[in-house]
Amino acid sequence: MRSVLQNHVASFEHLPRLSARLSLVLRALPEEIVEDFVADSTFQITLENYRPGKGSQLFMSLPTHREHVSRCVVLRSKLDQAPEDFALYIIAHELAHAFLRNGGWKDIEDAEHAADALALSWGFPKPKLRWF
Ligand SMILES: [Zn+2]
Repeated sequence: MRSVLQNHVASFEHLPRLSARLSLVLRALPEEIVEDFVADSTFQITLENYRPGKGSQLFMSLPTHREHVSRCVVLRSKLDQAPEDFALYIIAHELAHAFLRNGGWKDIEDAEHAADALALSWGFPKPKLRWF
């Protein structure tokens, strides 16, 4: 089950640090989350292919009958060079949004706070603000 999710890491092979970071976060996900992602054929994790002056393009699956949304986590290549705690937090936060379908969690209605709280529950706290 969990190995299916690890297949998503393959597309990040040319960014070894980001690849390792994504792998670390995926391994930390509770079984319930893994099952939800694996059961959704539209779920994907992809790299943003931004080109200066040209913008970026993204291909994602159309929603299916069962799901009213199509879930795609888009990660930026600069997460390969970003500080470890920041990169892990961003990856977990984005996966949390995907699991929550950009909605709330428990009694938290705000989607951003909900994603932060869920990411924290997986062991990835929001780093303190600092200048990079
Ligand atoms: Zn967010």
